[in-house]
Amino acid sequence: MKLIRFGESGNEKPGLILDDGRRVDASACAEDFDEQFLGDGGLDKLRGWITSGGAAGAPEIPADTRLGSPLARPSKLLCIGLNFKDHAAETNTPLPEEPVLFSKATSALTGPNDDIIIPKGSEQTDWEVEIAVVISKRANYISEAEAPGHIAGYVLHNDVSERSFQKDRGGQWVKGKSADSFAPLGPFLATPDEIADVDSLRMWLEVNGETMQDGNTSNLIFKIPHIVSYLSQFMSLLPGDIISTGTPAGVGMGMNPPRFLKAGDVVELGIDGLGSSKQNVVAYSP
Ligand code: ZN
Repeated sequence: MKLIRFGESGNEKPGLILDDGRRVDASACAEDFDEQFLGDGGLDKLRGWITSGGAAGAPEIPADTRLGSPLARPSKLLCIGLNFKDHAAETNTPLPEEPVLFSKATSALTGPNDDIIIPKGSEQTDWEVEIAVVISKRANYISEAEAPGHIAGYVLHNDVSERSFQKDRGGQWVKGKSADSFAPLGPFLATPDEIADVDSLRMWLEVNGETMQDGNTSNLIFKIPHIVSYLSQFMSLLPGDIISTGTPAGVGMGMNPPRFLKAGDVVELGIDGLGSSKQNVVAYSP
């Protein structure tokens, strides 16, 4: 299944992209795609609604309708840093012995095609194409073998980052990862059955039509089941929690000279099986 949320920001409704490509309103089956929905077996209900023919008869969503983040604001938006060898190399950082963990404020989440807003005072806003995994049920001290049973699906994520806030302002990376609009998510959440091999997906990102990143999930240092199991040793992961798994080489910070986003730029990114997204870059305005 491919889950979407659509409508005005803050008032999104749940929807589905059907196998025939039609986008339909799923409000008849779900209130929203959030922690409660996933925790209450919502994915099974949704599957039943499709099988019974309910979804096929649901109202279609007009083509020009805005997409929101495919998940309502989760309890946690976690990220793994330096999870590709080529990206660690371009940032002059040694390969991590254990997954590098940081968080983004969940208020950074936006729709897949919403604007990226350059934060007030920012000169180093950068891009990162990533595959994010979504938790389906509470995970606490789970093994790698148990991890797939806790995964609701996968989603495209741009881990937008302000490098000076991240690296020059002391303390944790969260400062450079959390501005409004810094987590465009979607277009859709794909359940695992939609993806033949999650360890072999091309991932790419362009700025103004020029390819910046061209990687593959096969090069993840720490694979997704390991990441889910690993994080569950430190905290309970809850339904709807999002874990972004790291970016390949080709970020602006790693270029010589470094290159950062400015108002008017257009960022496009995609991952095999997870669709693509497009963000216009705009300046902050109060
Ligand atoms: Zn990242």
